[in-house]
Amino acid sequence: MKGSGRSNTDPARGADEEILDAKGLLAFPGAIDPHVHFDEPGFTHREDFMHGSAEAARGGVTTVIDMPCTSLPPVTSPQALEEKLSIVRDRALVDFAFYGGINGHMKPDDIPGVVESLAPHVVGFKSYFISGMETFPAVDEAQFAAAAKACAKGGRPLLLHAEDPDVVAVATKERASLRGSQPHQWIDYYASRPMDAETAAVLKALKLAGQYAKNLHIVHVGTAKAAVAVSERGATCETCTHYLAFDETDFARFGAALKTAPPVKSPEQKALLWHLLARGQIGFVTSDHAGAPEYEKYTGDPLTAYGGIPGTGTLFPYLLSEGLFAKRLTLDRFLEATSGGAARRYGLWQAKGSLLPGKDADFVLVDPDHTSRFSPSNMMSKSTITPFAGMLLSGRIEGTFVRGIPVYASVRLAAAVGPKGDPILSNEAGMILARPGFGKFLTWGYR
Ligand SMILES: [Zn+2]
Repeated sequence: MKGSGRSNTDPARGADEEILDAKGLLAFPGAIDPHVHFDEPGFTHREDFMHGSAEAARGGVTTVIDMPCTSLPPVTSPQALEEKLSIVRDRALVDFAFYGGINGHMKPDDIPGVVESLAPHVVGFKSYFISGMETFPAVDEAQFAAAAKACAKGGRPLLLHAEDPDVVAVATKERASLRGSQPHQWIDYYASRPMDAETAAVLKALKLAGQYAKNLHIVHVGTAKAAVAVSERGATCETCTHYLAFDETDFARFGAALKTAPPVKSPEQKALLWHLLARGQIGFVTSDHAGAPEYEKYTGDPLTAYGGIPGTGTLFPYLLSEGLFAKRLTLDRFLEATSGGAARRYGLWQAKGSLLPGKDADFVLVDPDHTSRFSPSNMMSKSTITPFAGMLLSGRIEGTFVRGIPVYASVRLAAAVGPKGDPILSNEAGMILARPGFGKFLTWGYR
């Protein structure tokens, strides 16, 4: 049907099928954001599943994978997972999966049991070489080696936050003595987590993993050297939107809004990351979505400000504009970077990650002719403190569909597809049409 939106008058179609006129719009596979911190239960003053998944949908994301470390209890046992799932299940607006956690509380001998018991319920395991979280400490070498082996045997990738704690400790001390009693500047935070910290950690991880290195996945890579080392060993890595969009010179402008761990790197590294992403040596891009309220962000001290950007809603729009439309990425690489790569890596490819027939109808409708400045007032996450504020982006998301059902619609598209009843969240740009609990819990091999 052409025109106003809905019809089932075509005799070749079933009575329950609807046709939406998407003339002038582009359809892409729904994005997968395999690195989010939705903080529920435990830290919902920062984010929760309803707002986080609403923001995901607003930004064209149809599946998220949530980290195990920023909820209480952390996901380190089937009981803890069940506790989290029982709460999240009724809140999610897009499909979701979980990672299990391997942390410094575990004895190396106990790690195989943890992996075995959680593997049926998770799509990977997360660990840290450095951690600022009391509830989820970093692993030591023995714990990491045990985890690398157990995860490989259990058929789930082992994810690592790769920054070497010794390199960071030395650099932090140096900055402290340089600064003396003067207040900290942004350069102190940046310099306290140098590029060497990442490369040293990646090389150590590859060595400790040994024959299981291929099963490693390094999260939020910011340096080219680390990404190249990873790909040479057949392991995988992701970078995040902020490492592609910003560099250390932007701290002067954005301050705490740009703070993440690890910090964004030099302009040169930023350019190299694009290059490696275009070549496939960086597999895909994630948001590392992590919001925080103003009082945790704006502490007045670069070293204590909360690190994290609520980025799940800017991941796809940014890559669409600056990757695909700006021709930094081919269409194939754009699709891998936003959906296919993560779907393959995390056992979701049978039903997610592309528009192939037989898969879930997860897709995004985009108006390619619309260019506008990104406005935080259109965000649906709890925190809207973002360095993407004001960025000029080409392409506007008109609708996000999960399993064929519209979850988010722009004001323009909502006239055609909804709303049914009052939307739970809406703003000047669009609205959420699904109900909390619509999002489906996914496990490895979901079809
Ligand atoms: Zn993270």
